[in-house]
Amino acid sequence: MAYVITEPCIGTEDKSCVDVCPVDCIHTNDEANQFYIDPQTCIDCGACLSACPVEAIYPDSDVPDKWKSFVELNAKFFEEKG
Ligand code: SF4
Ligand code: SF4
Repeated sequence: MAYVITEPCIGTEDKSCVDVCPVDCIHTNDEANQFYIDPQTCIDCGACLSACPVEAIYPDSDVPDKWKSFVELNAKFFEEKG
């Protein structure tokens, strides 16, 4: 399991989640328009979920249907980075 960042992060990107993550697994880059969680590193602590002001973060098993594609988008961001 891992936590996943979904659409509400786009345009918000305030980094509140980054500041509370104990394993530093939340990242973005110049091309991305939101932050992503590395599912290989996330320890499922849930700290980011309560820190996010726009409720963009969900456990992967609990992502709303309309945002299911974000599960793969989060994982892919880190695959491409290598
Ligand atoms: S659940 Fe915990 S470890 Fe995973 S991204 Fe959020 S703060 Fe980081
Ligand atoms: S706290 Fe929420 S809106 Fe802010 S960067 Fe993290 S996921 Fe995006």
